[in-house]
Amino acid sequence: MKQVYNFSAGPAMLPKSVLEKAQAELLDFNGSGMSVMELSHRSKWFIDVIEAAEANLRNLMAIPDHYHVLFLQGGASQQFAMAPMNLMVKNKKADYVMTGSWSKKAYKEAQNFGEVRIVGEDTNNQIPTLTKDMFDPNADYVHITTNNTIEGTAFSELPDTGDVPIVADMSSNILSTPIDVTKFGLIYAGAQKNIGPAGLTIVIIRDDLVGQAPDSVPTMLNYQTHVKNKSSFNTPPTYSIYIAKLVFDWLLELGGLEEMEKLNRTKADLLYQALDQSQIFTAPIKAEYRSLMNVPFVSVNGDQELEAKFIAEAKQEGLETLKGHRSVGGMRASIYNAMPLAGVEKLVDFIKKFEENNR
Ligand SMILES: *Cc1c(COP(=O)(O)O)cnc(C)c1O
Repeated sequence: MKQVYNFSAGPAMLPKSVLEKAQAELLDFNGSGMSVMELSHRSKWFIDVIEAAEANLRNLMAIPDHYHVLFLQGGASQQFAMAPMNLMVKNKKADYVMTGSWSKKAYKEAQNFGEVRIVGEDTNNQIPTLTKDMFDPNADYVHITTNNTIEGTAFSELPDTGDVPIVADMSSNILSTPIDVTKFGLIYAGAQKNIGPAGLTIVIIRDDLVGQAPDSVPTMLNYQTHVKNKSSFNTPPTYSIYIAKLVFDWLLELGGLEEMEKLNRTKADLLYQALDQSQIFTAPIKAEYRSLMNVPFVSVNGDQELEAKFIAEAKQEGLETLKGHRSVGGMRASIYNAMPLAGVEKLVDFIKKFEENNR
């Protein structure tokens, strides 16, 4: 089989050992004689899987007991509506920090459910400076996007919002570094970037924020439904949960999120350094706002032909999916947890070789 490193922004690479384990267990899970895909979500076999997935995630992220962990569907995009439907209920207002395309979508959706205010907007892809006095103390929550997948920017520290809970879209950097869960009211993430296959959405929600939704909220969109039924009110995405559990096992074996962060910093430093030294490519994001996960870069002259050539030749080398998002162009290397150091090293070598041949 051809060795490929996939730099896709999502669905993204999974650790090879996870895929091998899934392959080995594909036809016969745990002596059941059945595939995980075929097991009832009410069977002891599957209940063991979902319980282990939750226990592992709690362990990895040090999630306290007064937070619930939910395994849902609908993607992060469904959380854009579900969060306001459940949380924007006391004073019916919320503050949204605008740092990119995904924050904009979250903001737009929230406007359907209350009075939504923009607080801090990125200009030229800089994370805005946020001070406590900028936030409305009567807002039901403050929404942020911790990592901006398309722009390649990330928060390096959390804003101080006082007693107002922070709701965070962590789709593209959850599990990449340790975080203090108690600083958040609600965390959500689509799985397909740093957790597992598409079709699964992780929600981590503080206990006091559950159960406030009005009766008009549909059953499936009420967090309380999923808390009460341990994410199995209806059929959950069983196979995606199983793979996520294997990814959590892999992270624990690696030494947890401290170790993961070290590796992620090594990978990102290597790539940014190569781009900063390059004469033909540049990483446009200022150092203090750079994402560890998504690294956009462009040709210094805006030469689209050169960019297309780079992407095509990289593909020949087994460096897949380096094309930038359609809204920003250029290139983007997504280097999530599962991207091995060897993949980034190969990309860096290729950038240097390409530069020698195309100066
Ligand atoms: C990918 C992404 C989304 C959209 O996720 P879906 O699961 O496809 O709805 C939302 N927010 C961020 C930050 C993302 O990276």
